[in-house]
Amino acid sequence: MKIAIRMDDITPDMDWGKFNRFKDLLDAHRITPLIGVVPKNKDEKLSINPAREDFWNYIRQLRDRGWIIAMHGYKHLYTTKDPGLFPIGGKSEFAGLPFERQDEMIRKAKRIFRTNGIETDIFMAPSHSFDRNTLTALKKNGFNRITDGFGTEPFRALDFVFYPIAVKRSDSLKDTGDGIVTFVYHANTMDDKDFDKLKELLESGKVVSYSEFFTRQVQDRNTFGQVKQYALAKAKYLAVQLRKLKG
Ligand SMILES: [Zn+2]
Repeated sequence: MKIAIRMDDITPDMDWGKFNRFKDLLDAHRITPLIGVVPKNKDEKLSINPAREDFWNYIRQLRDRGWIIAMHGYKHLYTTKDPGLFPIGGKSEFAGLPFERQDEMIRKAKRIFRTNGIETDIFMAPSHSFDRNTLTALKKNGFNRITDGFGTEPFRALDFVFYPIAVKRSDSLKDTGDGIVTFVYHANTMDDKDFDKLKELLESGKVVSYSEFFTRQVQDRNTFGQVKQYALAKAKYLAVQLRKLKG
């Protein structure tokens, strides 16, 4: 199985030392990831360094070097405790809010991206949490793809293409099949051990650039698949495997 890399919580005031340490490892292996950029970060937990003034210019540079950009929520503030359709987080910026409110948030978020020269139709929900209103609002605002869900290939469901994420990394690493899955990273909270593991992973040769997903055939997922996904998410949530995915 091939592994694609996703970096969450990209903000002007993130931990740039850790971001650069992560980026250096990727660069050394010529791997480009998906990054979740927060349009207007208000989450104090993500604010570690003084804000970088040329942030958007830098994001455009990364894009021009093949990095894929997803819109990671709006302000990254958890406003509800609704886990939404993909119940692994238990808190949400969106799920549970009325459609009009969600539509407004997504519209404003997208406007910030556009003002700063970034176009994307990929959405990354804070804490993996969204509901049907989120999906309707995303569609209305031109989003077609979501980084979430379980599986070993991109799949179509609820009128979106989903790029699956790994829940149990050891299982994905043991899988000798031809599939592809995403490993989720929050560089802000990584320690030396986490960086060692990342280095080891990159050296294993299993990692591919995120754009590999776009060359794959998108599977149609039937109702059974969605029920299975829900059950799996619920089980994994209870198993606390997802601690690392949160945020
Ligand atoms: Zn996040």
